[in-house]
Amino acid sequence: AQAVHAPHVVVLTSPGVGHVAPVVELATRLAAHHGVTTTIVTYGSLSSPAHSPSLASLPAGTISTAALPAVAVDDLPSDAHIVTRILTVVHRSLPHLRALLRSLLASSPAGVTAFLADMLCPAALAVAEDLGVPRYVFYPSSLMSLCTLLYTPELARTTSCECRDLPGPVVLPGCLPLHGADLVEPVQERANPVYELLVQLGLDYLRCDGFIVNTFDALEHETFEAFKELSDKGVYAPAYAVGPLVRSPVSSSDVAASGHRCMTWLDAQPDGSVLYVCFGSGGTLSAVQTDELAAGLEASGQRFLWVARVPNDMDNCASYFGGEEDGDDTLGYLPEGFLERTKAVGLVVPEWAPQVEILGHRAVGGFVSHCGWNSALETMAAGVPVLAWPLFAEQRMNAVKLGSEGLGLALRVTAREEDGVVPRDEVAMAARELMVGEKGAVARRKARELQEKARKASVPGGPAHRALAAVVDMWKCAAASPAVAAGA
Ligand code: UDP
Repeated sequence: AQAVHAPHVVVLTSPGVGHVAPVVELATRLAAHHGVTTTIVTYGSLSSPAHSPSLASLPAGTISTAALPAVAVDDLPSDAHIVTRILTVVHRSLPHLRALLRSLLASSPAGVTAFLADMLCPAALAVAEDLGVPRYVFYPSSLMSLCTLLYTPELARTTSCECRDLPGPVVLPGCLPLHGADLVEPVQERANPVYELLVQLGLDYLRCDGFIVNTFDALEHETFEAFKELSDKGVYAPAYAVGPLVRSPVSSSDVAASGHRCMTWLDAQPDGSVLYVCFGSGGTLSAVQTDELAAGLEASGQRFLWVARVPNDMDNCASYFGGEEDGDDTLGYLPEGFLERTKAVGLVVPEWAPQVEILGHRAVGGFVSHCGWNSALETMAAGVPVLAWPLFAEQRMNAVKLGSEGLGLALRVTAREEDGVVPRDEVAMAARELMVGEKGAVARRKARELQEKARKASVPGGPAHRALAAVVDMWKCAAASPAVAAGA
């Protein structure tokens, strides 16, 4: 019976725009190009950020959504790591997921052809395994960062110091050598309970039949080659490069019509003259760092468009789940007189701006970025060079990848040793170097080359399309096999 129905996949996504947006893009492409219907499953416990891509406005009929009922996590200490919170919700929600998958298996015409868990939910693969459903990891960051997470159990077993104190770099097959301090931020402190959770995450990935990765071969060719060797030997399931999964910009006038004055402001600026500053969907800076950034932008003499957030001294991902209730639209936390003094060259937007459209605007010539992977792919798609300012998660590793040791489209800001703050002089100098300096010109050339490579990866019938088609073919074959029919 299954063969006559469109394949149906269930994708479980952890919260955060950076996780939900690529899932939405994946589901959209599965529907548009591969005749696959998708149910996107979210966690009711973790409030989705205010600017999460609207799950309500997805095309009816091909993409559905379901939210798992909320589970309590109020027994966790108040200072528990954000990843501890997310992974605890993931674990406690497993019974709800089982019930949902059972009901979809029974009610959906095609059953469940495949189950996909995003990077933070591989614990859920066990449920699909029990129910006999083929299972995949949807990984919304680089293959290199996936390799480092797969390595976490070995890191824990073979070392005893903090990873920043490792005597030499971590060298994984086909990956750039990484300093321990550039590994993902939750493994930086062994005593924190999140460390063990990441070790378990690395083990849970081993339950999947394949990794669907939001990247493209030209970005990580050596990494793919090395990964293929390992998967041919049966060490890991195979990886498929289905990216870049980035949405296309909507027209500037449509964005302006929706009330975003930054597009009309950009229209009035010269080509390539504006430095866009944004730390992802939830990145925040301390009060001191906010002052230094403001002073540095002012001193740089460059035009800028800054998506600013209420400072937070405790946490640099404070607004990841929407954070401060309503933000502070008056920007009262900026240095006295800053807005007035810079109004001829700068625009500060509170909380949120239409990033894909901004990066695609001809006036934008550089991007101060926290190097979240979606931001990295979006800047490549737009051909805009980066000033890398990583904050948390795998962003330091992404900054290495984008920087001179890797792809070469990013320069890097240097923080002070003593307090980790990037001082104003450094901000000003780095901003000028990116926008009008020689190193910036080299990075810009690299960014344009990558833009062309990203375009080639995305053309109709190109590598991203073929990789996804190969995955869909596997799902169809598995659906036709008796093992799944029995399990289902
Ligand atoms: N984003 C945006 N406007 C903003 C901030 C972020 O549109 O003001 C989007 C950005 O385009 C990207 C996503 O939010 O698609 C952020 O994902 P990323 O992986 O870069 O960082 P994260 O938010 O996960 O730290």
